[in-house]
Amino acid sequence: MAIRVYNTMTRTKEAFVPRDPEKVAMYVCGPTVYNHIHIGNARTFLTFDIIRRYLTWRGYDVTFVQNITDVDDKIINRAAEQGIPAIELAETFTAAFRSAMAELGIEKPSRQPMATQTIPQMIGMVERLIATGHAYEVDGDVYFSVRSFPGYGKLSGRDIDDLESGSRVEVDTRKNDPLDFALWKTAKPGEPRWPSPWGEGRPGWHLECSVMSEEELGLPFDIHGGASDLIFPHHENELAQSEAATGETFVKYWLHGGLLQVNAEKMSKSLGNFMLLKDVLAVYPTPVVRLFMMQTHYRSPLEFSTDRLDEARTAYERVAGPLRDLEIAKRSRARERVAGDDGTGVWVTRLTKAIADCRARFTEDMDDDFNTAGALAAVFGLVREMNAFIWEGPGIGAHGENLPLLERAAAGIKEPLAVLGIEIDAHPVRVAEYPEEVMQLAADYAGYAGSDSSEAVDALRKARDVARSERNWSVADGMRDRLQELGFVVEDKPDGTHITYGR
Ligand SMILES: [Zn+2]
Repeated sequence: MAIRVYNTMTRTKEAFVPRDPEKVAMYVCGPTVYNHIHIGNARTFLTFDIIRRYLTWRGYDVTFVQNITDVDDKIINRAAEQGIPAIELAETFTAAFRSAMAELGIEKPSRQPMATQTIPQMIGMVERLIATGHAYEVDGDVYFSVRSFPGYGKLSGRDIDDLESGSRVEVDTRKNDPLDFALWKTAKPGEPRWPSPWGEGRPGWHLECSVMSEEELGLPFDIHGGASDLIFPHHENELAQSEAATGETFVKYWLHGGLLQVNAEKMSKSLGNFMLLKDVLAVYPTPVVRLFMMQTHYRSPLEFSTDRLDEARTAYERVAGPLRDLEIAKRSRARERVAGDDGTGVWVTRLTKAIADCRARFTEDMDDDFNTAGALAAVFGLVREMNAFIWEGPGIGAHGENLPLLERAAAGIKEPLAVLGIEIDAHPVRVAEYPEEVMQLAADYAGYAGSDSSEAVDALRKARDVARSERNWSVADGMRDRLQELGFVVEDKPDGTHITYGR
């Protein structure tokens, strides 16, 4: 089964056939660095991080290019408000963007060109467009002539005449057509500027993506990504510029992510309802935020709420549960569980099948336009089976004979999650963090005379199981109370006492 992707251009799911059978060239519009990024932007970047990771896992050599817009009206205005140079503001928020991406576990782009370092190439494209009759200069500004490009509107599915009648574009008598957009802008006093054949100025925003993607990847490249609110005008304009300038197809597959909503309103800075990624990550760990976002298909709107984040935290704990249980079981070696003739073979068959099913479903769902919600459901299915095997089935076995199978199940859970960039901390306890008093407790209750706190806890566990089996409740309860005072969690499970610490 081949990978299928939803292409905005054709509005259908298509078989994904990159231009080179072994390589994928992808470009994702990067941030305009004038503020910390909000969680809505983070969703888009996470989406394409997952797509990139998945394609890599499927064997493609992926080149991932993302620009940084470090010159723009928003940057200039914000810097003016703060009374600092635009370049300084852009540098601050470029650094903030990179560290926020790293914190969200987003892999670094293969290349990350900056707008201000690509100015000569942008001037080159403007010259090409003027020479071919697709652009014109007015008093130091250069505009793209949308009427010169017959395909204008094909990506967003808009008709140029409808756009014109429906728009409330200010009348600018210098433009041939109200929809014409700036390729080059004359610098106003105090603004960043570069010399050009049309005088000192700076590039228009749409231009940089056309120039950088062509320069880094060549045309047509395989995947162009961004949020759905970039389809028009940004991507429509990129496409018009690139195809008008080169006469070639710009992009093979256009992929667009759905927006993040708060109370069903698009989350954007202008609406004032945004939450910064760094604020969210201060409260929720990275894997939880990633899980939260992936539980919705990337093209669907995602409703942001702390309830949903809390649910994702619970889901994370559910996944971590059996992985930790396995670690605990390995630590205490074989549990004294009688496997007997309890139908172990049936359980083994069932878990073996669940491991294979999980991998097959994960791949099938991810191949289907990166259906992360389905892929996660597959992983949760294996988590349930592993839990059942441990708690209702034979567990690790009297002599640890089921350990290899459980290890395979654990790997079957961890590998797909790693593909999605989710790492599970299965570390049950950090022995160094055990309170010292546990040694005395083990001496009192279990006659333990050694010096290993891990062994001491294990001795307590066994002693408590003995006390319970002898219905010596005062001792069993007394041990539990004293362990809890020290910060341990004591649970009575079907196979006996469980003692954990530091979760
Ligand atoms: Zn772009």
